[in-house]
Amino acid sequence: MQELVAVRKVELHQHVDGSIPVDITWELMSRHGLNPVATREEMEELLVLQNREGGTLLSYLDKFHYPLWITQFYDNIALVTEAIVEAAHKQGVRLLELRYSPIIHTYAGLTVRQAISGVLHGMNVARRRLPDIECGLVVIAMRQHGPHIAKILARQAISEAYYLHNTTGVVGFDIAGAERGNPPSLFREAYDIARRGGLGLTAHAGEDEGPNCIWQAIDELGINRVGHGCSALEDRELMRRLAKDHILVECCLTSNYQTGAVTAGQRHPIYDFLEAGVPVAICTDNTTVSNTDQTRENALLLPEMDLAAITELHRRAEEHSFILAPGAARSGDQRARGKSRT
Ligand SMILES: [Zn+2]
Repeated sequence: MQELVAVRKVELHQHVDGSIPVDITWELMSRHGLNPVATREEMEELLVLQNREGGTLLSYLDKFHYPLWITQFYDNIALVTEAIVEAAHKQGVRLLELRYSPIIHTYAGLTVRQAISGVLHGMNVARRRLPDIECGLVVIAMRQHGPHIAKILARQAISEAYYLHNTTGVVGFDIAGAERGNPPSLFREAYDIARRGGLGLTAHAGEDEGPNCIWQAIDELGINRVGHGCSALEDRELMRRLAKDHILVECCLTSNYQTGAVTAGQRHPIYDFLEAGVPVAICTDNTTVSNTDQTRENALLLPEMDLAAITELHRRAEEHSFILAPGAARSGDQRARGKSRT
């Protein structure tokens, strides 16, 4: 396991809300008298998905209420982000894209922009101690809030874009939440705004819906990467398209089994993606809700891949990161491709 910890890792799909270490949630809840249960152990049960609770995307999303109690305040948001970056760094992550929907962190009066800069501040504080980790934020629009809010969020995301500031910034745009009834095509204008604003584009798609959703996200939103994308497996033409256009699939193994995106006992689609020449990244999704970390997710691949292959997987995933140092140009960079479409 120690050898696996030492692998230089790239994390492209990790949510802030679902990844806050239990200890810091407990500490903040107790400090502010918000704790709904008497002990840390009971709190852990509420934050981490229990075997009896899993099986569907909606039951998985149900675990996200308690983190929101503490992440409505600038200092708390910065503090929990700092803890997430530190925890990832301990697992060998050296490039970290966190994602977050700022609008669900404005219930106590923060503006969307403050909610974004709270996360960026936490990243910057962590990076002062851990300068060898690169960080960036992907702003999420929740599908159930509709296309108008998504457009507003895309504009706010641009205002904190990485290339406008000397420190860590927003690098990408995403949609998440209930897939059913909220097809990607609704969000076309929001993605146009984000693309023109120089952000990388990804979308949760094909986790709870069929391949049609992924086609829509590619053709109508112009995504550079897809979150989960499990149902692509049902469509060989789509698999060829992902490979041809170098659209990376952000694979989250533990989470996919917990939400039912992949049936228990079934081989994970990541191997089919690799065999079809589709770029992939191994991602945690939510380290706390899924009770996992980067090392554990990598270990799941060990029966079929050796250490060198896993290291190579991370190296190639890095080429698809939306994090790009200002002024630096990576050849074949996904963002450059996205920009050329505008
Ligand atoms: Zn996700």
